[in-house]
Amino acid sequence: MSAIDIKSFRSLFHGQVFEPADVGYNEACQIWNASVRKHPSVIARCSGVADVIAAVNFGRASNLLTAIRGGGHNVGGRALCDDGLVIDLSRLRSVFVDDATRRVRVGGGATLGDLDRETHVFGLAVPSGIVSKTGIAGLTLGGGVGWLIRKYGMSIDNLLSAQVVTADGKVLTASATDNDDLFWALRGGGGNFGVVTSFEFQAHPVATILGGLLLYPRAMATDVIRHFRDYMASAPDELTA
Ligand SMILES: Cc1cc2nc3c(=O)[nH]c(=O)nc-3n(C[C@H](O)[C@H](O)[C@H](O)COP(=O)(O)OP(=O)(O)OC[C@H]3O[C@@H](n4cnc5c(N)ncnc54)[C@H](O)[C@@H]3O)c2cc1C
Repeated sequence: MSAIDIKSFRSLFHGQVFEPADVGYNEACQIWNASVRKHPSVIARCSGVADVIAAVNFGRASNLLTAIRGGGHNVGGRALCDDGLVIDLSRLRSVFVDDATRRVRVGGGATLGDLDRETHVFGLAVPSGIVSKTGIAGLTLGGGVGWLIRKYGMSIDNLLSAQVVTADGKVLTASATDNDDLFWALRGGGGNFGVVTSFEFQAHPVATILGGLLLYPRAMATDVIRHFRDYMASAPDELTA
């Protein structure tokens, strides 16, 4: 990566670019697993799809190892890489709910908390995971298992389409009818097929929940686990434990 390359990249990028000497670089390297220490050469915090395209093209032209950061919750620290480019989507957190169709468009850097906050306004929910700060992107691309799985399935079961920037810098829509092979790959294939800039989900009515933690003395373990097994065999789909 030459000084000229990075200078010209900075000039056409609208978001923030961090190199190791820049203020904010250390903060931009923080992810959920604080024991992961990786030092990218460039972090490109995108402000929109055009920035994602610019970052992908820059990484390809400069032959840089590239990582994509969604919510930064991957335990192995895959949101970052050493000596390469991080395409950071943490500013792409918008969520738009279409109340009539119950369809939800979610930015590729949104967290589960961002999503729940907006769908809750309409008495709706998209099946996702259990911890609000997890990224919807990494979670969905890996399947997405959460509280609503018994009633409404995994996150990928409710994915209608995704907007993807591919390695050649093109923007594609992947759905059951458009680029269906890419759509198939995204539903479980992880971050290996492009940068997902937004997801479109089907939401479901979930207005009220009852939740909590049940604790029993250790001496009751055998009875409790047997009861749990027998009870769940015929429990309603609304109940997840
Ligand atoms: C505390 C905690 C609780 C969790 N709970 C659950 C749970 O309830 N259910 C569940 O299913 N999983 C759960 N997970 C696992 C979690 O879903 C995965 O770690 C997931 O990868 C996190 O996604 P992220 O966007 O936050 O991660 P990141 O670390 O940002 O990214 C993870 C992977 O996805 C890629 N990626 C990220 N964003 C994009 C994008 N926009 N386009 C393309 N690729 C992208 C990255 O390159 C990386 O390979 C949990 C993890 C933690 C740490």
